[in-house]
Amino acid sequence: MNYFRAPHLDSALEQLARRPLRIVCGATDCYAEPGAPSERADWLDISRIDTLRGISRQGDELRIGAATSWDAIDRSERLPASLREAARSIGSLQIRLQGTIGGNLCHASPVADGVPALLSLGASVELASLGGVRRLPLEQFLLGRRSTALRPDEILCAVLFDASVADQPSAFVKLANRDGTALAVVSAAVLLRWQPQGVLAQALVAVGGASEVPVRLRSLEAAMEGLRAGELPNAAQAATLGELAPIDDCRGSAAQRLGQARVAIRRALARCMEDGA
Ligand SMILES: Cc1cc2nc3c(=O)[nH]c(=O)nc-3n(C[C@H](O)[C@H](O)[C@H](O)COP(=O)(O)OP(=O)(O)OC[C@H]3O[C@@H](n4cnc5c(N)ncnc54)[C@H](O)[C@@H]3O)c2cc1C
Repeated sequence: MNYFRAPHLDSALEQLARRPLRIVCGATDCYAEPGAPSERADWLDISRIDTLRGISRQGDELRIGAATSWDAIDRSERLPASLREAARSIGSLQIRLQGTIGGNLCHASPVADGVPALLSLGASVELASLGGVRRLPLEQFLLGRRSTALRPDEILCAVLFDASVADQPSAFVKLANRDGTALAVVSAAVLLRWQPQGVLAQALVAVGGASEVPVRLRSLEAAMEGLRAGELPNAAQAATLGELAPIDDCRGSAAQRLGQARVAIRRALARCMEDGA
């Protein structure tokens, strides 16, 4: 096995253009996989590329470099509450210091905590290759369980979203089978935008762990728009959650996940409304 540590993005992209390489950043997902590291794979370590790290303002948007750790995201006061809560819920401190936002998205697990939080912010991803840079809404980047639109010669460079979301009430709720370091059974993230008259202008609601990849609940979002705060819990209770298609596995049955999705949404909504008040 060969191991390349790229000093900057250009050299990483040149290496990727020459032959298929397995990208590694914080390595918390890569090395946890059964059988990894494969002796047949050549690895490309992007964790020392400075331009892939950090949180900055770019015009009207916030930009988070793909190699930014969950600990750095948790500690950044300029980021929305929901994303910081998701960051704080990931693994132990050691995992949060090492694991990155880019790795979480590229691993594309149905229970990745970063994904619902970022979906509820309307985030996009920036993908680079020697051929140039392209941008995709996160929803289009995630194709299915462990499957993304990333091409073999591309690196995910950054996650971007409208900076104004940091001023809106938002919340992330994770339900797991035990306290401490545990993967979610389901999670929910909510962001609310209010009109000055106390009417809901926009709701963004995303659920993880109850479908192949975390999804936006657009029918619930549409049902809540135009309502007042007191009417939101009933709207959430009445929602069919038709976008969800949970599976049975060792952490929970499909029925349990559907029920827990409803609980997580209700709690996230309640936290947003406390925040908004
Ligand atoms: C003990 C433990 C507990 C955990 N708990 C949680 C948890 O509670 N919640 C949760 O969501 N996750 C959890 N994880 C999973 C993991 O820590 C996170 O998903 C983390 O964000 C992965 O980031 P990384 O940099 O370590 O990814 P890596 O392991 O380096 O990479 C993961 C995948 O993404 C690809 N990749 C990484 N960066 C890029 C990039 N910039 N461009 C293109 N491809 C890239 C790699 O090729 C690989 O396929 C846990 C893991 C462990 C070991």
